Amino acid sequence: MRKEDSMGFSTDCIHAGNEPDPSTGAVAVPIYQTSTYVQEGLGQNKGWEYARTQNPTRSALEKNLAVLEGGAGARAFASGMAAITAISTLVKQGDHVVCSNMTYGGTYRYFTKILANYGVAFSFVDTARPEDVERAIRPETRLLHLESPTNPTMQLCDIALLSELAHRNGAVVVVDNTFCSPYLQKPLALGADIVMHSTTKFLGGHSDTVGGAAIAKSKEHVEWLGFVQNSSGAILSPMDSWLVLRGIKTLVVRMERHEKNGRAIAEHLARHPKVKKVNYPGLPTHPQHALAKKQMSGFGAMISFDLGSFDNAKSFLAKVRLCSLGESLGGVETLISHPATMTHASIPEEERNRLGVTPGLVRISVGIEDLEDLIADLDQALAAVR
Ligand SMILES: *Cc1c(COP(=O)(O)O)cnc(C)c1O
Repeated sequence: MRKEDSMGFSTDCIHAGNEPDPSTGAVAVPIYQTSTYVQEGLGQNKGWEYARTQNPTRSALEKNLAVLEGGAGARAFASGMAAITAISTLVKQGDHVVCSNMTYGGTYRYFTKILANYGVAFSFVDTARPEDVERAIRPETRLLHLESPTNPTMQLCDIALLSELAHRNGAVVVVDNTFCSPYLQKPLALGADIVMHSTTKFLGGHSDTVGGAAIAKSKEHVEWLGFVQNSSGAILSPMDSWLVLRGIKTLVVRMERHEKNGRAIAEHLARHPKVKKVNYPGLPTHPQHALAKKQMSGFGAMISFDLGSFDNAKSFLAKVRLCSLGESLGGVETLISHPATMTHASIPEEERNRLGVTPGLVRISVGIEDLEDLIADLDQALAAVR
């Protein structure tokens, strides 16, 4: 069997890049915990020279991710932010970047507090409105950075349409696919040039590793990202590469369960008299439900809902027992958070309200526990809300 050829998605999750170890036949790719490789003679090596440059465990993960996202290759980094940092080396002084105004907070911080110091200009726009993106694009726009759905209000952007707009102006399109994983959304097939992930979330899936990856459609971009990875050095460790490879083997079964629980909980919350509003692309009431059906193969497990006031959110969050209060997402356990005081606290209050990050908004990353247990926990906590 030629495992490098793309097969069914579940098969690829388990087999792509996961060749049996050539020296022992070990079915799981070993954790190559080594810093260097003995060379047979001057100029004679087995293709491995130094472990910042290449590591077999990391290479296995990179091959796997390239197949799953349909790219020419992938590079794995020490975190999702390290992947974004590496991708951002595609822009230079004088260039301009268009970015979603609801981008991940760490991305916003990196762009505005660090990259902006190097003479790069940014426009943060509502990417749900293609006309706003079009208006923001300038002759010197080199990069369009997208997220869909966005955190925490679950707004979508039309990746195919925006890619066309950006390409007309010669800009590279990057999609942060962390919330979906390639199981739900394939940005490269929709027209994007580079996909990135925080592998910390659904790909790792077990809340036990921090990592990131960039997968590119063109060989040139893969080569450049590899050059940056080796030059700046923010590589994913062998152990973390192994944990993500291991997590991805069960991506499909986890995502199916995440999705089933996510849909059921979104519908349950939408019917609940104490819940004012539910943001979930799978609900027909979501303003971009039609786009979600076109662009995604499912709706996922990320939901936010409004309890009307800070006090209501506070009493609800004090009562949940099975759902854990915490930042992060995408793990097998259900995590719940309060964006206005946690992930989005640095945004001024007025701006937060304008963006829909209201004081009563609660975000939930639905895990794969028994649905009945999750609903019972949410219901008993909602009972505490006035
Ligand atoms: C978590 C996250 C990141 C950053 O990833 P780290 O692994 O924490 O560095 C980027 N984008 C999104 C959408 C995320 O959820």
